[in-house]
Amino acid sequence: MLLFLLPIFLYGDAHIFVYHRFGDNRYKSTDTSIKELKKEFNFFKKNKYKVIKLETLINAIKNKKDINDKWVVLTIDDNFQSFWTNGFKIFKQFHYPFTIFVYVQSAEKKYPDYMSWKELKEINKYGSIQYHSYSHPHLTYKSDKEIKADFIKGLKIFQKRMGFKPKYFAYPYGEFDTRVQKIVKQFNFQAILNQNIGAISKNSNIYNLDRNALVGKTFLKRDLRYKDLKIKWIKPKVYPKNGILKEIMAKLYNKSIKNISYYLSGYGWHKTNIKNGIIDINIDKKLIHQRNRIVIKVGNKIKTKLLIKDKYGTK
Ligand SMILES: [Zn+2]
Repeated sequence: MLLFLLPIFLYGDAHIFVYHRFGDNRYKSTDTSIKELKKEFNFFKKNKYKVIKLETLINAIKNKKDINDKWVVLTIDDNFQSFWTNGFKIFKQFHYPFTIFVYVQSAEKKYPDYMSWKELKEINKYGSIQYHSYSHPHLTYKSDKEIKADFIKGLKIFQKRMGFKPKYFAYPYGEFDTRVQKIVKQFNFQAILNQNIGAISKNSNIYNLDRNALVGKTFLKRDLRYKDLKIKWIKPKVYPKNGILKEIMAKLYNKSIKNISYYLSGYGWHKTNIKNGIIDINIDKKLIHQRNRIVIKVGNKIKTKLLIKDKYGTK
């Protein structure tokens, strides 16, 4: 009986993590020390987490295959020099695959703190090199035309230098909304990654994959416990015009849930009771930040909604 039940426990939710800098203590908020990196990798090893390629996870979602609860995907944003000098050898030592999202302008203009095309080509033998925009803009502050121009330019240079077309894209600063997402999707990426806390299930949207940041103060064990909450967002869809968030409305697929926790940037966590799986909170709060997150949590199941100011209005 136990043997029969066993495989069920193996299937669950995977986790994608994002790093930025390695062993570069000039930038505390985006750095991972080598000591910390080794600690995390040893934790994965000791607890039988399987670090897999991003491609493997995306193919599993696409093909509606079961997701293994022990799968971990490691990504790195911004092609900082510190990966080449400090981080790379640790990844090689553990034989962990990784995906780097390249800020094209930094390599093309040979910015001193970033890896060169030559270094990226060498790294491409061990990991996957993917796309992170040309000029690393705050995309919601750019017009449709400006976004398209940035992508056309960056993708052309990327392909010329690397010799292939990138398949995956990660938003600079993790910032996007429906308008930005629509434009980016026109460039036919096979998957798009954000920077919201969450987990990856076989129901995850491959054009909006959650990534947990492992920079500064990290919560690796907590993040690994998170599961993907199956939820349908109703309100708000976008950043409210006057900056006042009136209502949070969503529908849970599991109607028996009676208590939830919710979080709003600047206002912290709160608890509330719900009926018939319908979340309907009259919140009436002024959004404090340019980038806000609403997080809904039921036990260890979690889902994030990003609300971000869009200079050009959401469509
Ligand atoms: Zn970035």
